[in-house]
Amino acid sequence: MENALWKKHHLVACEVAEDYETEKKVRMASYRGELRCPDEECLSPILKYCHGEIRAPYFAHRDNGECDYVLFEKNAGVFHGLRVLLYEHFKACDYPVEMETKVLPHHYSHLFFEWKDGVPTAIEIGTKSTNVDDVMKLQEAYSKAGMQVIWLVADQPGKTISEEHTYFMKRFCLNESGKKDLIVIGYDGKHITQYREDPDSYLVDGQEMVSENYPKLFSYEAYINDLYFEDGTLTTRGFEEAYNAFLQEKQLAFAVYKEQVEEDKAYLLRQYEVLRREREIIDTRVYVENPSGEEYEAGHQYILMVIDQQEQPVLDALGNRWVRCEFCGEVKKVAEFVSFGGRGRVNLGRCQCCKDK
Ligand SMILES: [Zn+2]
Ligand SMILES: [Zn+2]
Repeated sequence: MENALWKKHHLVACEVAEDYETEKKVRMASYRGELRCPDEECLSPILKYCHGEIRAPYFAHRDNGECDYVLFEKNAGVFHGLRVLLYEHFKACDYPVEMETKVLPHHYSHLFFEWKDGVPTAIEIGTKSTNVDDVMKLQEAYSKAGMQVIWLVADQPGKTISEEHTYFMKRFCLNESGKKDLIVIGYDGKHITQYREDPDSYLVDGQEMVSENYPKLFSYEAYINDLYFEDGTLTTRGFEEAYNAFLQEKQLAFAVYKEQVEEDKAYLLRQYEVLRREREIIDTRVYVENPSGEEYEAGHQYILMVIDQQEQPVLDALGNRWVRCEFCGEVKKVAEFVSFGGRGRVNLGRCQCCKDK
C-alpha cells in the first residue's frame, strides 16, 4: 500500500522515504499506532510503515481485517513497482495525480487524475489475464461516475503483433480506446510500445496489398518519460508525428506499386495482341521466340484464349499439348488427363482429379 493517513496528513510511502527526518517521524507515528488506512470502510484501520533493503517502502495493516485496499493489494500487488514509477513520472509532469485511489465503490484505481478542468481520469493496468467482464464492468462504472478510464497493458514491449492475433486486453485498446491506441509497458516500467492500426485498405485488382515494410499495425518505441496527456488522451512524445509520417510513406509506396502493376498489365495485353496477330499465320500454335518468363506467361494467357475452339489442338511453344477438363473446367497439360480428344471435342477431356465423377 502506498497511501496512509496520519492525523490530517496524507502520506505516500515512496515520498516518505525520500527524506531521512520525514521517515523517522513517520516510523515513530507508526510505532505509536497513529497511522490509519485511508479506506473509510476499513474494519482494522491501524497501519504500519515498512522499509527495508529489498522491498521498496510501503504501508501494511497491523491486523488483517476486511478492507478493499487489502483486496486491491492482493490482486494488483504485482504492479506495485510499475505504479510507483508511473506515479513519480506524472508527478514530475506536474499532473494532479494520485495513486491507489478509491473513486468507485469497492474498487481502487491504479492512478487517478483530478484535472482542474477536464474529465477526471483513471489509469488501469491490464494484462493478458484481464477478462472481458472486468473490463466492461469498469468501463461502465467509470462512465456512470462521469469519469474516463485509460488502459495500459503490462507486457513485454517491442513485440510484433497484429490485431487479429492477440488477447482481449490488447484488442480492446486497439478497438475501443480513445484514439484506438494500445500502450504496452514493461513490468520494469522502462520501455513502452505504442500501437495504432492504419484504418485504410490498399487494394490492387481487388486484393489487399501486404508488405512487411508497411504493416497494418504501426508500432512506436518510447520510454516511460515520453508518456504525457494531450487532449485528455494518454500518448507518447513523437508518436503522432511518427504515425503520420508512416502513413504518408505507405501511401506513396502504394501509389508507386499500383502504377507498376498497371504497367505490367498493359505490357501483357500488348503481348497478347502480338500473339493474336501471329495466330493468323500459325493457327493455334502458341509461338513465342523465348518461351519463358513474361513471354511464356503471355503464352499461357494465349492458351486460355484459344482452348475453347474444337478444330485445332492447342500446343505451346515447347510442344506441350493443352486440354480443358469438361468436369472441373481447368486447363492443364495432357499428361494430367485420363482421356481427351475426339470429333468436335479436340480440346476437351477428363482430368485425373475428375476420373471418378
Ligand atoms: Zn484498510
Ligand atoms: Zn477435371
